[in-house]
Amino acid sequence: MKLLIQGAKLIDPIENSARQGDLLVEDGVIRAVGDCLQAENALTLDANGYTLAPGLVDAHVHLRDPGQTRKEDFESGCAAAAAGGFTSIAAMPNTSPVMDQAALLAETLSRANRQGRPHVLQVAAVTKGLLGQELTDFQALSASGAIAFSDDGRPVLTAPMMEQALRLAAALGKPLLSHAEELSLPGIDPASESVAVARDICLAEQTGCPVHFCHISTAASVRLIRDAKRAGIPVTAETAPHYFTLTRECLGTPPDPNAKMNPPLRGEADRKAVREALADGTIDLIATDHAPHAPEEKAQPFDKAPNGVIGLETSLALGLTELVRGGVLTLPELLCKMSAAPARLLGLPCGKLSAGSPADLVLFDEERRWTVRPEALRSRSRNTPFAGRELCGAVLLTLVGGTVAWCSEELKSNSPALRALCGV
Ligand SMILES: [Zn+2]
Repeated sequence: MKLLIQGAKLIDPIENSARQGDLLVEDGVIRAVGDCLQAENALTLDANGYTLAPGLVDAHVHLRDPGQTRKEDFESGCAAAAAGGFTSIAAMPNTSPVMDQAALLAETLSRANRQGRPHVLQVAAVTKGLLGQELTDFQALSASGAIAFSDDGRPVLTAPMMEQALRLAAALGKPLLSHAEELSLPGIDPASESVAVARDICLAEQTGCPVHFCHISTAASVRLIRDAKRAGIPVTAETAPHYFTLTRECLGTPPDPNAKMNPPLRGEADRKAVREALADGTIDLIATDHAPHAPEEKAQPFDKAPNGVIGLETSLALGLTELVRGGVLTLPELLCKMSAAPARLLGLPCGKLSAGSPADLVLFDEERRWTVRPEALRSRSRNTPFAGRELCGAVLLTLVGGTVAWCSEELKSNSPALRALCGV
């Protein structure tokens, strides 16, 4: 199959460039990128007015499969990811059972990865059962396909265990993803995050082994990470769209359980610091921390409702609306933080818009306005804090290895090439 995408605005996050051009997909890879490309027997898609970029990579999702599939499963989670423009997603290990055994991890990966879906990567647990008592078998988990290690949902409880985990992960060339939280402080206290960030920065400095910080939400954490980077300590960091968009003032009265997550929404100074950290490179990437919960769980009062919000279908539009239109990042910078940077963290070959790279691509309309309606989302859960919000930027087409993982009805009805590709 050959698909020639013509006249799109091409975003190359590695080159940090945006320009008009064509792109040819053949046999699952990007065959050529250039001007006025010709290809015999190719299906052609007129993409004038649309933007084409490497498929998005999410380094932090919770797919709830196995064990909690009334919240989400691989099918619904991948449908949501594809509709959001994602072509690779890394699933956290706090499933039931926990991803702490090599055989379970290998079986889960093969069940998750079906033709026409985004690539599902699996993060393995640092400690057995996420209990913080005993390290998992890093080597066996890595050999079975673990992409990274994390006890996400909980911190690695003690400094000696974290130090050992950093060394084991570094020896295997796999990232260690730190859910930085000091459990002896209440989560609402910003220091519960920054105290734990400080600990792991010290351990990274002492061992020389890299640490990656998940869902950074406070000004103090940003300052620590910025200083660590200046000192040459091997740290990277992510934040999530809710932290650069919302503050605790957005919770409402009574507070909305659909805006309850861990770490919690912070103050305006924190939101501002997170934006500045995205702009100056202190925060390397954006991840969704997509965390589905069933409607009846989120219908409980705020104090009882579980932590977590969904994000796969709103994150690109939030980035475009809040960061690009908000003057925080350029379009290539945003796409770097949502594709090339997470791909680099996870050691993936995607995130590039150059000949020879996998044809993992997203086509979107930057200008298209739409309103978030939870009932229209593909995720099995509805717990978004952005219900009713008008956003700018809509995904039209997601290709994974040249195969259609998602196509908007509008593009399908306007394009014979897409109808042919979708088999309708
Ligand atoms: Zn976490």
